[in-house]
Amino acid sequence: MTPRNFPQRIHVLAKPTGSTCNLDCAYCFYLQKEGLYPGSRFRMSDEVLESYISQLIECHRTDTVTVSWQGGEPTLMGVDFYRRAIALQEEHRRPGMRFENTLQTNGTLLNDEWCEFLRENNFLVGISIDGPSSLHNTHRVDRAGKPTFDRVMRGLRLLQKHGVEQNVLVTVNRTNADHPLEVYRFLRDEAKTTWMQFIPAVERINGGAGTLTQDGTAVSDRTVGLEQWGAFLTDIFDEWVRRDVGKVFIQTFEAAVRSWLHLPSSGMCIFDPTCGHGLALEHNGDLYACDHFVDPEYLLGNILETHMGELAGSERQRKFGRDKLESLPGCCRECEVFFACHGECPKNRFVISPDGEPGLNVLCAGYKHFFRHIDRPLKILAHLLRRGLPAEQVMQVMAQQETAPATVHSKVGRNAPCPCGSGLKFKKCHGRLGNMGDGKPGPASVHPS
Ligand code: SF4
Ligand code: SF4
Ligand code: SF4
Repeated sequence: MTPRNFPQRIHVLAKPTGSTCNLDCAYCFYLQKEGLYPGSRFRMSDEVLESYISQLIECHRTDTVTVSWQGGEPTLMGVDFYRRAIALQEEHRRPGMRFENTLQTNGTLLNDEWCEFLRENNFLVGISIDGPSSLHNTHRVDRAGKPTFDRVMRGLRLLQKHGVEQNVLVTVNRTNADHPLEVYRFLRDEAKTTWMQFIPAVERINGGAGTLTQDGTAVSDRTVGLEQWGAFLTDIFDEWVRRDVGKVFIQTFEAAVRSWLHLPSSGMCIFDPTCGHGLALEHNGDLYACDHFVDPEYLLGNILETHMGELAGSERQRKFGRDKLESLPGCCRECEVFFACHGECPKNRFVISPDGEPGLNVLCAGYKHFFRHIDRPLKILAHLLRRGLPAEQVMQVMAQQETAPATVHSKVGRNAPCPCGSGLKFKKCHGRLGNMGDGKPGPASVHPS
């Protein structure tokens, strides 16, 4: 029985090797976390592993438990560590419970043995790659400063050969952000991936050019530009919404669709009003408020001493989650795209707003541009989904509107079938598009995500 003070839901990113990694990516915010544990071997012990699995299960009221592994580089633990983790899941499971294990990796250490294990245990593997070789190799290098693209691609191909479910995570930085379509088409056509995450690189520099803590307003020259970020998302969206809807899934766009449908959650903590349900577990059992706040100030406690559910359900952590909303500057609350942005992640809120308030998101202009730009296509998409129609139809509608919008629509009677092929009357479909996205929640038709 789950104690009442435990949170309703919890997601933990476990870092069994702490911040250690076989690579040395120039913008890696996590490598410097090594400084938090001087002298450590950075290997999760069996005691911490068992506490993690058993407590995670005790925190779940649901039958499905997601077990997330990340780093640093989690494959440095070796495959036997994960065999033990699976065995512990079996040992502690409640009847009917199932596990979804996810692993975020640079892919360079994967081999056939790894892939067979990952396939047999239905892992979802995220590969970190920043685009084609020239863009990837700019920042993603190993400890000798050598490029890593070929090794990462070898890992991705091995996963595909073994039928392991995989997706890709792109860190969008000052270099690759100028090449959105090159990045997107490479991932779609050459890497042959259909699930993509784009994460903006925002690297705050502390004294001595370090990045250990979240302070200061200076950012590194690798940090994505705010307008660059907006343009990157917008260019990819324009291609996606015209040819790839239903075939390629991009986390930010899926979240936006949910926001335009006015669903209770976008599916991404950064775009929800509050957060605090995604915690980070270090190799020694220390539990932090979030992966982006692995910082002594946000250390909740250690799971060998206090149950993870108590730490996650503590008033301190609840306040951390509420602060996402409560600390917003006034310009966010009045913003026309607030419903989709919600000020994004507190990690990135360190500039002064036009009204002189602290705490505006450094990427604000980029997000505003992006969310404004996608408004019309997403109104169409949300309208189709509310009607129970396939999301893919948005591509047909866009094509029709762009070829001869005025000609087509001026000839359609209000009671005639809509030219988009929806099967609805024109007045119920595109004849009323201007009224869509009106803040009314739609039915439970959810875009696949
Ligand atoms: S592969 Fe990931 S953990 Fe390793 S250095 Fe690069 S960004 Fe950091
Ligand atoms: S701080 Fe940012 S990444 Fe962490 S839970 Fe909140 S929104 Fe998500
Ligand atoms: S776009 Fe800018 S002003 Fe609007 S909610 Fe997002 S961060 Fe705030």
